[in-house]
Amino acid sequence: MNNRQPAWQAFEQAHVWHPYASMLDPAPVYAVKSADGVRLEFEDGRRVIDGMASWWCAIHGYNVPQLNAAIEQQLGKMAHVMFGGLTHAPAALLAERLLSIAPAGMQHVFFADSGSVAVEVAIKMALQYCQAQGQSRKTKLLSIRHGYHGDTFGAMGVCDPVAGMHHLFADQLPNHFFADAPTAASDDVWDDEQMTSFRGLIEAHHSQIAAVILEPIVQGAGGMRVYAPEFLRQVRSLCDAYDVLLIADEIATGFGRTGTMFACEQAQIAPDILCVGKALTGGYMTLAAVLCTAGVCAGIHADGQGVLMHGPTFMANPLACAVALASIDLLLASPWQQRVAAIETQLHQQLSPCRESERVQAVRVKGAIGVIEMKDPIDVVHVQQQLIARGVWLRPFGRLLYTMPPFVIRSDDLAQVTAAMRSVTM
Ligand code: PMP
Repeated sequence: MNNRQPAWQAFEQAHVWHPYASMLDPAPVYAVKSADGVRLEFEDGRRVIDGMASWWCAIHGYNVPQLNAAIEQQLGKMAHVMFGGLTHAPAALLAERLLSIAPAGMQHVFFADSGSVAVEVAIKMALQYCQAQGQSRKTKLLSIRHGYHGDTFGAMGVCDPVAGMHHLFADQLPNHFFADAPTAASDDVWDDEQMTSFRGLIEAHHSQIAAVILEPIVQGAGGMRVYAPEFLRQVRSLCDAYDVLLIADEIATGFGRTGTMFACEQAQIAPDILCVGKALTGGYMTLAAVLCTAGVCAGIHADGQGVLMHGPTFMANPLACAVALASIDLLLASPWQQRVAAIETQLHQQLSPCRESERVQAVRVKGAIGVIEMKDPIDVVHVQQQLIARGVWLRPFGRLLYTMPPFVIRSDDLAQVTAAMRSVTM
């Protein structure tokens, strides 16, 4: 092992922006040479277990033979063609596979190039649906606090108004409605007051609300919170009662992360519009999709001319579709439920002791997600150095240290992740 930087890194540091970062006073970034299994290898030779699965995408780990093969085979045929006026087998086969595993009622698929763009498309679907029905007053969305839906303008507009970026872009963002997020983490501790804020807003404003958008069961980047399925069941029935569409943003929760293929299943509900992304390609390429019911599709076309007004250059990129299809097939052929359940049990056992620390506010576990919420903000640079010294890659934010590992992680590797998490929080 040596700590030398590669020759290109000084240039990179001076010229290349990183996520949510200062260009002039950047936090340290670690140069990765390669990745295999659940490990990243840094340019300086150090190896770390990736407890983040590359922002929750790499559910099968890295350098996966089946996924490599899918891309190589597709590459031999074509890397990309435009989707306007053309089509191809990878898109068709992926759409078929997605609809076969999606919650009941999903009938149509729109491919987008990232999660945020999928959220934009979902919002457009809802707005165009209302316009085509002659409900032109329905231009607002209703969401819940602590949500996160992406960084583009439409998506930012439905992120948590306090934790999100509303203060930076206040004049440019529409004023949507935000209900209090439920505080009950499970149906065992449910009481109906959890619905008061949401019910009040939808009752008062439904004539202006095109759709409700939320992350089912687990709220991710807005606070890593878990909530009771009963909330989702009641949201579904209130949406039905008030003729409001329900958009489920399963970009983070989809493909098994919470223990079921989609988190909506835990409340036995289905949305009208579903966004998926992240783990869709097993973390290989950027791709997302928006699924909707036959009813939403028919509604968009109800005025006799409805075309859905979106069409990105790289829509349904064949390489991305091919690897997504292979990733779903690999997931379905694997014992993923047992793997996620085993990760959940181990996270419970090995993170629970942190509750005894005076510095820890809460410990939350759901499926293959383990979260330690601290009382004070985390010193990310310092904590990351300590974690790396223990052979673990995590990226804390705010007061949250969390892991969302690849489903294929072995229990000894997961034990190394949780030991590192305990060491920096207790
Ligand atoms: N929705 C949710 C629930 C997410 O977690 C994210 C990404 N963290 C997004 C949308 C945005 O996806 P992307 O970063 O691919 O644009």
